[in-house]
Amino acid sequence: MGTILKDILNFLLPPRCMCCGKILADDNGLCPECFNQMTFISMPYCKHCGLPFADRSSLNRDMICPACIREKKSPFRMERSALKYDLASKKAILAFKFMDKTENAKVFAKWLKIAGQDIFTAGVDVFIPVPLHYRRLIMRRYNQSALLAAALSRLTKIPADFSSLVKFRSTKPQAALLGQARRKNIRNAFKVKHPERIKGKRIVLIDDVLTTGSTVRECAKVLLNAGAVSVDVLTIARVYKD
Ligand SMILES: [Zn+2]
Ligand SMILES: [Zn+2]
Repeated sequence: MGTILKDILNFLLPPRCMCCGKILADDNGLCPECFNQMTFISMPYCKHCGLPFADRSSLNRDMICPACIREKKSPFRMERSALKYDLASKKAILAFKFMDKTENAKVFAKWLKIAGQDIFTAGVDVFIPVPLHYRRLIMRRYNQSALLAAALSRLTKIPADFSSLVKFRSTKPQAALLGQARRKNIRNAFKVKHPERIKGKRIVLIDDVLTTGSTVRECAKVLLNAGAVSVDVLTIARVYKD
């Protein structure tokens, strides 16, 4: 955007903090107070699943968490998230998801790019957002994960594919379910529509929150079956206990 146009827009519609609504001097998304409330995930974390270690003393980049050591056949190459899912990040994500704060995708994309450093170093061919069933999409009017993938694609110049992975079965909201029920609810809900676009690709699945991972696991399963070389997961926030 031209600088003058941007100045005029900033005057008319100044950037606001995505959490508290305070007017900001720049378009970094958060005021200093809200920024300080956010827990950005930082080293040391599991090099495979990205889970932060409770013991913050080690800076060894090659550590793997006990769950990843136990699980030998994870469908993911790597998982990374920018933030801990807590009250502060929840507020920003819910506004983005349900209150039309779609402009926040640009700020989130910057965080995703930083959180996904290891993934980008390993090589990425395409971003794929976790799809919504079309009925949910009509209700919500936009897929927040698709907005994130589009913004990240603009930022990194890596293409995004919005149509090859589809959710063809409507499911109950995962938030209402626990563990086993979540896995059962989402099982066989996704399919690959264009396997020729998936074959041989290193794919990064994009979503807003990583909770138990049941949804992205199902997505990864169908993508790998369709011939994807690898699947990574990149989300704004992730649920974990300290
Ligand atoms: Zn604020
Ligand atoms: Zn791990």
